[in-house]
Amino acid sequence: MVNTVPLSSDQLAELTARIASRKERLLEEIRHVLARSGNERYADLVGEAGDAGDASVAALLRDVAEAEVRRDVLELRDVVAAQGRIGTGRFGVCIDCGARIGYPRLAAYPTAKRCLACQQEREKTGHYGPRPTL
Ligand SMILES: [Zn+2]
Repeated sequence: MVNTVPLSSDQLAELTARIASRKERLLEEIRHVLARSGNERYADLVGEAGDAGDASVAALLRDVAEAEVRRDVLELRDVVAAQGRIGTGRFGVCIDCGARIGYPRLAAYPTAKRCLACQQEREKTGHYGPRPTL
């Protein structure tokens, strides 16, 4: 496995900003779909979640099971988790093996929580979530 260098503060700032704007877009999309499908109550919740903390986002995600926003909700969950790792200083560190994930992979997939080797291992064994969409 390649032993990658730590993220520079510029790289971390850039990825943090990209994750934040991705979150905004996902919230916007989810809100839009829910409003269109008559789920104003959830649409309002999404609006509030944009300004409130992760706890309200998490509560919202438990409630929203609409198939058409499911993909967005799953990705939003990854985004919120990535922001949590940024907050605790564990961003860019593989959750399985503890290796640094590396800027090239994070640049392609900012919410990556595993290094490439662990991700491939996980996909080989068959239990993995939705593929990255970036
Ligand atoms: Zn790993």
